[in-house]
Amino acid sequence: MKDVILTGLRANDELTLGNYLGGILPIIEIQRKYSQQYQINMFVPDLHSFTTPIDHSKLQDSIINNLKVYTAAGLNLDDDNTFIYRQSYIPAHSELTWILDCFTGVGEMSRMTQFKDKSKSNFEKIQNEVIKKIDSNKTKVRNLNESIDENYSIKQLKKVFNTISELYIEKYDEIIELLKDRSNFNNASVGLFNYPVLMAADILLYNAKWIPVGEDQFQHLEITRDIAERFNKKFGPIFTIPKKTSEQVKFINRDKGLRIRSLTNPDKKMSKSNQNPKSKILLTDDPKQAYKKIMSATTDSIGQINYDWQNQPGITNLMTILSLLSNQDIEQVKQTWVGQTQYGELKKAVAKAVADFLTDFQTKYNAVDKAKLQAKLEQSEQAMNKIAKETLLRAQQAVGLRP
Ligand code: AMP
Repeated sequence: MKDVILTGLRANDELTLGNYLGGILPIIEIQRKYSQQYQINMFVPDLHSFTTPIDHSKLQDSIINNLKVYTAAGLNLDDDNTFIYRQSYIPAHSELTWILDCFTGVGEMSRMTQFKDKSKSNFEKIQNEVIKKIDSNKTKVRNLNESIDENYSIKQLKKVFNTISELYIEKYDEIIELLKDRSNFNNASVGLFNYPVLMAADILLYNAKWIPVGEDQFQHLEITRDIAERFNKKFGPIFTIPKKTSEQVKFINRDKGLRIRSLTNPDKKMSKSNQNPKSKILLTDDPKQAYKKIMSATTDSIGQINYDWQNQPGITNLMTILSLLSNQDIEQVKQTWVGQTQYGELKKAVAKAVADFLTDFQTKYNAVDKAKLQAKLEQSEQAMNKIAKETLLRAQQAVGLRP
């Protein structure tokens, strides 16, 4: 049996350059290099798509869009060992998730940083609301204070203070209303909390060993290993244990996990959910606009180019993008750029690489043969349903649901 390499990209928004470089490119490179040696599962995790709110009327388009992106990125649909499928078309994903849920601790799930990050941003939103409400009184209070002159009377003072108190009491009531509803305070869904278990099912159903994901998914990969090991210990060898993250990184020929950074705040990852369009390059961006975004990317004031994620994350991010898009080893890129002082020159080289990449990618995207894609999809779903059912049955038998 061939080793299975598996990856999926949520269909909930337009994909970014970070998604492409971290989630898609590694698998395409492996397919190119070792064709026939591995089974490749590249799926659309559509059940993951609404762990955070989405426009549901666009989901169907997003799913097809993701499949077209895989194809335009170079996934070879003629390869018999490659499978593309939609998660929700294979019911075993949901069924295995429930079984695994019952062998997963709330404590270990609560440590998932991605969940914590996503619920925190909501908390901050509420905090800002509260501050805004209080601030909205500022001008009125200032005007009231200014209405008191030197010849104030106690009666006048009392009236002003009463009005100020009333203003705050009114806001206080609004704030209490806001905080009372805990779903306002933290509207992260149970689905978002639980999604690493669904991800574990996605991996374990197909006995996948290799999961080339970006650094943001490492914790979820580790929890998959923990869940599978625990299950196997209790019931015998039901699941194939995916490789450790350190081995995954070596497998795709990288020295560490990849985290492409935001162009406006290079301490954070480039994320499709960031509302600021300048922070990210979308695969659908106009190449000229993308060029401008790179030229205006946030760097630093050190004045010399170094490869240093700690102190110069903006510059280091740009060198990383250049290396991946121009198919150069990072050492080669470092040799060319480290020590130079002209940030603008580096930006121009990166901006050109990004614009050229987008032009080529978009041409390929528009040329995707939809009929061929649909045929491959249906054929893959049939084949994968069979494998997924077999694994599910082993798990069902283990827990006593089937004879
Ligand atoms: P998601 O957008 O969460 O569905 O992620 C899909 C894939 O893209 C996963 O393999 C992620 O690790 C990868 N990914 C997302 N954002 C980045 C990023 N900024 N840098 C590198 N990989 C990323």
